[in-house]
Amino acid sequence: MNPANWLLRAARQNPQSPALYEGTRLEATYQQWKQRAASLATALQEQGVVAGDRVVICMKNHTRYLELLYAVWYLGAVIVPVNAKLHPREVAWVVADCGARVLLCSEVFRAGLEAEVGADCRVLGADTEVLSELYQRPEFPAPLTVSGDDLLWIFYTSGTTGKPKGVMLSSANIQAMCGSYHTDVDAVSAQDAMLYAAPLSHGAGLYHFMHVLSGARHVVPASGGFEAREIFELAELIGSVSMFAAPTMVRRLVDHAKSADVQGAGIKTIVYGGGPMYRADIEDAVTQLGPKLVQIYGLGECPMAITSLNRALVADREHPRWRERLASVGMAQSSAEVRIVDAEGVPLGCGETGEIIVTGAAVMSGYWNNAAATAATLRDGWLWTGDMGRLDEDGFLTLQDRSKDVIISGGSNIYPREVEEVLLMHPAVHEVSVVGRASREWGEELVAFVVLGEGHAACSDALDAFCLEHIARFKRPKAYFYEGELPKSNYGKVLKTVLRKRLAEA
Ligand code: AMP
Repeated sequence: MNPANWLLRAARQNPQSPALYEGTRLEATYQQWKQRAASLATALQEQGVVAGDRVVICMKNHTRYLELLYAVWYLGAVIVPVNAKLHPREVAWVVADCGARVLLCSEVFRAGLEAEVGADCRVLGADTEVLSELYQRPEFPAPLTVSGDDLLWIFYTSGTTGKPKGVMLSSANIQAMCGSYHTDVDAVSAQDAMLYAAPLSHGAGLYHFMHVLSGARHVVPASGGFEAREIFELAELIGSVSMFAAPTMVRRLVDHAKSADVQGAGIKTIVYGGGPMYRADIEDAVTQLGPKLVQIYGLGECPMAITSLNRALVADREHPRWRERLASVGMAQSSAEVRIVDAEGVPLGCGETGEIIVTGAAVMSGYWNNAAATAATLRDGWLWTGDMGRLDEDGFLTLQDRSKDVIISGGSNIYPREVEEVLLMHPAVHEVSVVGRASREWGEELVAFVVLGEGHAACSDALDAFCLEHIARFKRPKAYFYEGELPKSNYGKVLKTVLRKRLAEA
């Protein structure tokens, strides 16, 4: 299965259907998108790209990005998206690691990247002027045949520890992920529109598959990024909009919706995930925006497709365990089987906390060129996620923390998320992140970094008293630091590594 065939099929079924938008401006119908992808494929072939070759793409969100993805697949080649904010040296590292034939980039990055990338890789600027000329090339006759095991995508993990690893996603992985999305996350029709407000180089860049399959519209905001006001305005104009939003983005959407007194007209679905969504935040989001929210839990190694909490479950306030379920990441998706195990891989019972492992058709085939990391992560067909969690008797999975975020204080495991959930219920706390710091007495002790809500002042004693009301004494943070904002990755995840470093330096 080659996804370029999905584009071809959509173009044949509904050639004049609107496909690509920049803001509200229609950039291409399905026929035009297919024609551009096929012509760009010819241009890439002229650069020497053949089936199986890796093509790195380093660009900010744009409709051209989507055109280029399908051009690469027309040739049966493998796309390797990298974060456009990486240093040229980091991009060059990825290029060398995957042995890329071509690097596609925004023109502004070209000179810097050319200086770093080895001679084996051609660096091609891919701005509108360049591509407009290439659209004139003859169309590549037809997408090449791709088998289930063939790679379509190598996704480099952010590598907060050590060098990034290239997650290999095959055609069969992508197909399983798409099937699960339609079954477990959301149905998609030709009237729908996918809005790309988060970087296409990461998880948000996987949503076009399901939307091409359904002949839906694809919208890149004119700003190219995440602006809450722009999103609400666009959604009203475009209608039936779905989007992926990291929890911090959901929070910003809700803050804006409250201040502008809007309920998200034109938004059909907000898929959230990629990091912990605190219960207080999701309750707030459902109250403000209604039944539009669906949660997914996945990771690069099994993208989007481990568990989901569908919109009915998110919105069902009548259910006696609604709040508990809201704090979970839902149930295993139809393509996945989930277990909780101890360090030896022995399955644990309901309610017991251990590492989450998953098996299923969306699980990666391994890390590119890294047998040791593959062997450590994929064992007997199960992917060890590095996330800690527990299952309840109905199969709902609650994530605790990344195993490396667990704090061991006085011999007890403390999951910072539990403490963060409590602190977020306090009216003065807008955002919070809890990390461990070395302690002579306890081994580690908890420290909270707090962003205060507007009009609130530092109140460590009150926060301490509040924790005492809700959680065991030994779980209380020993110190509070007040910050203007928390350090976050390009994808909106709080960078606990940066907070730990600050503590170590202090
Ligand atoms: P990445 O591979 O960069 O997508 O990061 C994957 C990690 O993000 C997972 O291992 C989890 O720790 C976290 N994550 C993903 N989805 C969720 C979710 N719905 N709730 C909490 N954490 C999540």
